[in-house]
Amino acid sequence: MDINSENQFFTNVNGVIDRMNSEREDLSKLRSIFNSPQSRFILSTNGSSNFLFSNRPSSISSEKNSSLPEAEKKPRIQNIKFLTLEDVLKCSFLDLNFYINSESNPSRTTVTLVDDVPKRVSSTYSTATFLPNKSSIVFIGRLSNDISDIADLSNSLLISDSSASPINPNNSQSETTHFYIWAIDIGQLSSYSFETFSNFNSAHGIKDNVPYSHEKFELDIAHLFGGRFLDFRTGSFGLLPSQAHIIAIAKSVIDWNYRNQHCPSCGTLTWPAQAGFKRVCVNGLMSSDSTENSKSSQSVTNEKSHKTLILEKKLFTEDAFKPCISQTTLNNFTFPRTDAVVIVAIISPDEKHILLARRRNFPPNRYSCISGFIDPAESIEDAVRRESMEEVGLKLSNVTYFASQPWPLPNSLMIGCFAKAQTLEIALDNNELEDAKWFSINDMFNPVKNIEVSSHLKFPRVTANISLDQLESNIKEKKSATGNADNNYKEISDLSKEYMLPPAVAIGYFLVQTWCKSQLESANKL
Ligand SMILES: [Zn+2]
Repeated sequence: MDINSENQFFTNVNGVIDRMNSEREDLSKLRSIFNSPQSRFILSTNGSSNFLFSNRPSSISSEKNSSLPEAEKKPRIQNIKFLTLEDVLKCSFLDLNFYINSESNPSRTTVTLVDDVPKRVSSTYSTATFLPNKSSIVFIGRLSNDISDIADLSNSLLISDSSASPINPNNSQSETTHFYIWAIDIGQLSSYSFETFSNFNSAHGIKDNVPYSHEKFELDIAHLFGGRFLDFRTGSFGLLPSQAHIIAIAKSVIDWNYRNQHCPSCGTLTWPAQAGFKRVCVNGLMSSDSTENSKSSQSVTNEKSHKTLILEKKLFTEDAFKPCISQTTLNNFTFPRTDAVVIVAIISPDEKHILLARRRNFPPNRYSCISGFIDPAESIEDAVRRESMEEVGLKLSNVTYFASQPWPLPNSLMIGCFAKAQTLEIALDNNELEDAKWFSINDMFNPVKNIEVSSHLKFPRVTANISLDQLESNIKEKKSATGNADNNYKEISDLSKEYMLPPAVAIGYFLVQTWCKSQLESANKL
């Protein structure tokens, strides 16, 4: 079994993104990237609950897919809306001052630190700024030079959102291939005032026939850019893999910023730094009065006392100017978290069946591999064995890692494994699962047939050089030669029932598909 990277959704397919992590600590570089004509911005609201998508469906040309079966030829239905800086600036309610070119915006503020903060610590604060309304500005990275090969992404980026006409279509190749992608989250819509809302509307000639609401605010923003906001799951599952990776980074990082506004040690508000990839506690590190300390401060770019500014904005109480206890031992920085989850395809002792289970909250008839979070101080293998014992009562051997997938709902990493059960008897954990069954390859044809193919994953029947009739006759022949080897398996071949697998974008589908392929290959060899 091998991994075909094209089959993996949300991952960095074809190396589409260079995250440029080393640039995140350099404020002048971040600013020059932000202000570059090659920057593109994706927009979300309420901590990445909803993202702005294009009204135009994906324009991927069908000739690239000519080898795909008919059912997979239909175009992907979603397309991220990429905005230019000019577009984003129309959102006058966003606080973009920190990143806007200094010549045009002398009033921006950065944190001013007390003068005994070590250089090592203070350098981290050079990219820190407070953002209101729990909004986020996240630098995703630079698109690879090869995006011209990714027709859909390249077309989306070149279209100006306001005029729907191409931007400098005759630009030299070198210029058009270096796009920088940012994600901006407007933040908590309910924290914006009516005044903000009506100012935005009057600036853009939007008439207020409908009563004020935050939902309407979102609709008006979408309308201005000719797009629509969709919830992450609805929108992202319909994207091409090249766009899915971009939105996966945005979702995970924005969601983390939105939910981690407070220092885990002292509870005061933290500030985002490094273009959204770090949050810092400024407690006790800020100069209490930059006017008094201006001569000895390490970073003085503000015109107003930070303490005054912060107290005025009610960002902190006076307590915020006492040192945070964590800073005596650790630099109190927090980083985006990734939650590790194991997902395992359990194979029967004779390797002819796969165990699939139904969680209570699954859509009707859906079955998938079992999964669970890795506990603290637990190895991947230990977690797989424990989850299996807990959920289906099966003791496992031969736990092997197969492939992983970021699952940005909001920040999991799915670690896909195969393992062999030592026995067949299932002891169901009824709290977690509604059902668990052993499926043979024959059983799998029914569920697989009923999947709406919504990604580039190929249905095993298409890629394996064998027909269902051939397969069935092979299996019948084998059964008659060996006696009925399936007596020990719970009978599940109720073909009148339609079983569903997870969506084709999920690693659970990928694991089952991989097992199906291996079964078909071995059936071919019979
Ligand atoms: Zn703190």
